[in-house]
Amino acid sequence: MTDQYAPLEGQLEEVKCKLLARHEGETIEFSTCPNNGCFDMCVLKQHVKNGKVVSIETDDSIHKGMGREDKYCPWEDIQLGMYQKRACVRGRGQRSDAYSPTRLLYPMKRKGPKPSWDFERISWDEALDEIANKYMETREKYGPLSVYSDGMQGQTWDPFGEYMGGAIALWGEDSFEPTNTADMLTYNIQNTLCFGIDGLSENQTFFDAKAIILIGFDAAINYPETVYYLLLAKEKGVPIITIDPRYTWTAEAIGTQHIFIRPGTDLALLEAMAYVLFSEELYDKEFCDQWVEPEGFELYRAYITGIADGEIPKTPEWAEGITGIPAETIYDLARFYGEAKPCYIRMVWAAARQVYGKQAARGLNYLQALGGNIGHNGCAGSGVGFSGAEHIMTPFAFMPQFMGETGPTTPATVCMEAEMWHRAILLRQKVDAGEMDLEDYKAEIGCPKNTEAPNIHMMLCINSNRNHLSGWYGCNERREAMLAVDYIAFAHYNLRHPSIPYADIVLPISSPFIEGVNQIPSSPHMGSYTIGINTGTQNAMMYGRGGGDLPGETRPMGWIIKQIADRMGIGDKIMPVMESVGWEQWADKTEEVAHDVYDFWKNIPAPDGQMMPDVPEWEEFRKYPIYRRPMDSGYHVFARAQIEGGAPFPTQSGKIEFYSKWVAENDLTVAPYPDAGQKCFGKGNLPPMAKYKHTPEGMMSPKTLDYPLYMVTPHSFYRHHCAYDHSLWYRDEFRNSVWMSVSDAKARGIKDGDKVHVHSTVGECLLTAYVTSRMTPGVCCIIFGRWYEPSGIKTELMPGGIDTRGDCNFLIPSDFYDDVLGADLNNALVQIELAEDYLKLDKLMEVK
Ligand code: SF4
Repeated sequence: MTDQYAPLEGQLEEVKCKLLARHEGETIEFSTCPNNGCFDMCVLKQHVKNGKVVSIETDDSIHKGMGREDKYCPWEDIQLGMYQKRACVRGRGQRSDAYSPTRLLYPMKRKGPKPSWDFERISWDEALDEIANKYMETREKYGPLSVYSDGMQGQTWDPFGEYMGGAIALWGEDSFEPTNTADMLTYNIQNTLCFGIDGLSENQTFFDAKAIILIGFDAAINYPETVYYLLLAKEKGVPIITIDPRYTWTAEAIGTQHIFIRPGTDLALLEAMAYVLFSEELYDKEFCDQWVEPEGFELYRAYITGIADGEIPKTPEWAEGITGIPAETIYDLARFYGEAKPCYIRMVWAAARQVYGKQAARGLNYLQALGGNIGHNGCAGSGVGFSGAEHIMTPFAFMPQFMGETGPTTPATVCMEAEMWHRAILLRQKVDAGEMDLEDYKAEIGCPKNTEAPNIHMMLCINSNRNHLSGWYGCNERREAMLAVDYIAFAHYNLRHPSIPYADIVLPISSPFIEGVNQIPSSPHMGSYTIGINTGTQNAMMYGRGGGDLPGETRPMGWIIKQIADRMGIGDKIMPVMESVGWEQWADKTEEVAHDVYDFWKNIPAPDGQMMPDVPEWEEFRKYPIYRRPMDSGYHVFARAQIEGGAPFPTQSGKIEFYSKWVAENDLTVAPYPDAGQKCFGKGNLPPMAKYKHTPEGMMSPKTLDYPLYMVTPHSFYRHHCAYDHSLWYRDEFRNSVWMSVSDAKARGIKDGDKVHVHSTVGECLLTAYVTSRMTPGVCCIIFGRWYEPSGIKTELMPGGIDTRGDCNFLIPSDFYDDVLGADLNNALVQIELAEDYLKLDKLMEVK
């Protein structure tokens, strides 16, 4: 070291002293970020002082002082998944939730009319007694299918019903946003129909790809870990092509080329690429001969090349008129794809979350098969964001036995699609009034023909962080349903949550991010992950107890469920191990359970049958509660067992199926697909083979005469689905605006920053315009996840008040289209005009 650093050293010492003084008296506790959709369980290293989390760092348990992105992180460790599980800004910013001035601190009971924030404080005993009584009364009066509870992937989150003679179960995946209902299932089913199996290949296999194509996948926003691997692949020379109606962050950060596409037309692009592969004989004939069921293959080829009856060739020229992509670009892309083997295409949720968009996932599977891009490193089928591989066993699975649970006595009935609860409530009233036939009712809500229909009179919304009013499309109908249902119990941690004005009773729960994981061990009845695995690489197990005192009278969800179960007389079945555990002992007891689970878990083999190496004792693990297993037993590659291992595909024919005879031959409104659990297929009109068609909500729709702009609703970097929109740190970090192309704005006389009125057939809002060349003309964008903030301006479309925050779900209709699963929409046709023009119109019902 040269002398030039000498003066600096003195200053550094001073800074060090100041920093040490600032952190004096702090203890370190860990929690994990339980957000889904990215990886789950990034490490939150909390600094706790005087019972409060004063700052949050993230993982430094490995490569300390380097950082994952640091060039010194050894390449071998990157390939083995041995790097830090670092939280993004969403994870680290959750402290703002915990100490928000609008934190909900006490149980409250409705005092004034709905919708309003007119509540009075009550005790926990009063709140819990009332919910238990209402639950039992409702079931007594209307039967076991009368309480809707938060659902998840075809399960029920009604924690009690299965111990009390039955409950409502849902098919699809209920989640925080408009479309997860069907999407997870969509991909599962599209993959299952083609391949009999589901899943992606692991991110590490990017390095073996000759090219990567991302369709509607803004990894930089949604999947920080995936984008890290993409970045490394790019640095290794793998070209990355992004295809999206917006110029995304991913395109900007790592894209080699970006192709703008009209939303909802992805399948047309894929079909035109297939046309080029066929016509120029670029497809992998050997692969297709060996692995694709020949009859379906020929049907597909005839459809694509236009030799089938009534079909036209799906040429790039044909696709240009639909997708807006020049035919030359499609030719180039198809030729590039045909030659770049292996090629990894990832098309996650966005393309499928449109009417008929689900078929795009199947179309991608066909294309991957034509390219021979299945079954090897650097290849994948279509799929969601995770590889599906588990390098360590999730301890979550063992929780019930350590909680002493006996298991359900009466299975829940799969009687509706997860997001259709609002229509289940509203249309049931018509059935009861003799205005609607019961069978029609069942068809409208996705109730299988051979199943009893629900009769919802109570909503039990205690699975934290759900947004029942506006977390899904069709919000005005949901609003109506929430006003119509007899009783709503709702739990959250923020008083300003838009669903609260519709609740009868509100419970303050611990923040699932800071304190929630603190005192909730994982169990089917606990609903969060104290001890679980990182879903990004699935090679790391973490435990998070968290630090800081719970503010006010907030309580974790598990505690709430246990108290209600005790009141219903089923406390011996639900978490019996917590029987008679007082609140003061709750956290310690849950840690005891986590300890037991850990001791069991560390002595069992991983899913590949291998014992996990070097698993520390609990006491050691507890000091820095993250364990990693090196991913040295091979990466998960989609369909490797078939293509490289020679196993038959578990389809009817044993091969990849472009045409599903099973679909053609079965009544899908009754028969559950063998591997899809108790799922029903909506109105049963799933086509045996995917074919592009214009959508009623698309850019070719006659509706565009009145609503010419196609609204897309991607995720924000500062929210996780609907979570954190109230965060004071992030709330205004991003422009609260509607994105418009320059030409669309110009045609309407709109300038950047102008106040505009955005409206569709079902909703309207007032926002500012963000005029940008990042958007495809004819397309606009409102970032998903804002919380409805009604103004005093009430209209026919917006009886609760025009939204001023930009909750895009108010603009999206909730029609149940007769496609595979129906109502998974994240888009709508809208019109935008200057707000001042609109406000002059005589449309307003009332101005307060
Ligand atoms: S939001 Fe996702 S990526 Fe960010 S910290 Fe949480 S789990 Fe990790």
